[in-house]
Amino acid sequence: MQHPPYILPPCPALPNREAVATHAQSCLAAVGLEDWHFVWDRAVKRMGCCRPALRTISLSRYFVEAYLSIDPQEIHLTLLHEIAHALAWQHRRARAHGAIWRQYCSLLGLTDTRATKPLQDFTPPHLQRQPRYALCHAQTGEILRYYKSRPRRSAAQWRHCYIPGRKNETLGQLIIKQIYPESPYKDISDKTREN
Ligand SMILES: [Zn+2]
Repeated sequence: MQHPPYILPPCPALPNREAVATHAQSCLAAVGLEDWHFVWDRAVKRMGCCRPALRTISLSRYFVEAYLSIDPQEIHLTLLHEIAHALAWQHRRARAHGAIWRQYCSLLGLTDTRATKPLQDFTPPHLQRQPRYALCHAQTGEILRYYKSRPRRSAAQWRHCYIPGRKNETLGQLIIKQIYPESPYKDISDKTREN
């Protein structure tokens, strides 16, 4: 490995998810992965994920929201874990948690190279009863309501509905999506920090 250690921006205070996303994107830029992107996902069994086919690293919004108060440093460490996957793939086409990935962990200053790590167990409040459907905004993807069973209203009927207090923005924009079970990822969907 010829590359000198990467110099990352120091982990800032992480008061909210926006700060996490900004920090993630600046870390990607700092290691030369400008054409990779940070995105949010809705996983409930692991915090982080690297998807080389999409050039994305992602964090679970649910885990991050919980860990902002439990242990923000854990969010940063998960980010480094996923960036090491991205670097291993970008430069060496290496997947999983082998020697090449561990070398990149080392260059990032990440000493904990466990593939998985137990995290504090929690279930997002809205998933405790496992709703299977969500009412979403068709343009933004924002989830507006959860349902345990599929609402009987047809798509045509939903077009005449809106969220009280948000009529301008939601009228004609409401769609039902199945959110559970999640569709399985097709590429690296590692069990990083799985409970
Ligand atoms: Zn991993």
